[in-house]
Amino acid sequence: MAKLRILEFPDPRLRTRAVPVKAVDDRLRRLIDDMFETMYAAPGIGLAATQVDVHQRLLVADVSPDKTGPLVLINPEILQKDGVAVTEEGCLSVPGYFDEVERAGHIRVRYLDRDGQTVEQDMDGLLAVCVQHEMDHLEGRLFVDYLSEAKRQRIRKRLVKDRRTVSSPVAVL
Ligand code: ZN
Repeated sequence: MAKLRILEFPDPRLRTRAVPVKAVDDRLRRLIDDMFETMYAAPGIGLAATQVDVHQRLLVADVSPDKTGPLVLINPEILQKDGVAVTEEGCLSVPGYFDEVERAGHIRVRYLDRDGQTVEQDMDGLLAVCVQHEMDHLEGRLFVDYLSEAKRQRIRKRLVKDRRTVSSPVAVL
């Protein structure tokens, strides 16, 4: 297994719309394992393939407190959504920033699991919020898109500045 690099806002690659996964094979399962390792190490409760610069419709999540609920969603589709949940969200691609986002409180999702089997599952609470957040990534959408333009600009400026102050090997030479 290997830890993958997570893209950070405002990296334009985060705006890529992912294409459907064609085959659930060992190669994909290796990517899934790497995504879990990356997500748990971060630490985070969800990670979309988009965030590790793989533009296929795949996400991993685990909202359990003790890493006992790993979920893999391949080619997920929301069949039904209702209710309202307002949650303070963060994102591994927008480090250090949290804000409230309103989403559906309950969703019914159809997806392929890591064996390529079709699953239909009802989700609510944190899992429903997490899956909607990760599915947004697959559309090239970020949680900061739900905030005001002024807030988004402030976050963008801060993240770009933070990155500049980190010394890179090039600067050392
Ligand atoms: Zn995210």
